[in-house]
Amino acid sequence: MSETIFGKIVSGEIPAELLYEDEHCIAINDINPQAPVHVLVIPKKGIPRLVDAAADDQALLAAGKVAEQLGVAEAFRLIVNNGAGAGQTVFHLHLHILAGRGFAEGQMAGFQ
Ligand code: AMP
Repeated sequence: MSETIFGKIVSGEIPAELLYEDEHCIAINDINPQAPVHVLVIPKKGIPRLVDAAADDQALLAAGKVAEQLGVAEAFRLIVNNGAGAGQTVFHLHLHILAGRGFAEGQMAGFQ
């Protein structure tokens, strides 16, 4: 797999402010936030897409810990874009935590 921007952040080649780190993942602020809180949970392992990650659900559990640490555990939205057709632009698996504003009732997907 070719190295993505997130792979370079995980390896330290590109510096980033880490909001959270454990043995499985890091969390950073999204560079183009779509909500007052928009954090990316990035597994250290360079898994391209969610469908490639059967054995790596530790990252999903870490999202809850990160949300708690951010103080948004009562209400946050977790998004994974899988594949270009779904809007994935960085092919190193990551979870978006969005919080700090309301989301339209009944709206399941998307950043709006
Ligand atoms: P996705 O479209 O699901 O692949 O999400 C990729 C996300 O990564 C987008 O929300 C971008 O704003 C964000 N992003 C891209 N480069 C960086 C970076 N260097 N630091 C933080 N976030 C980034």
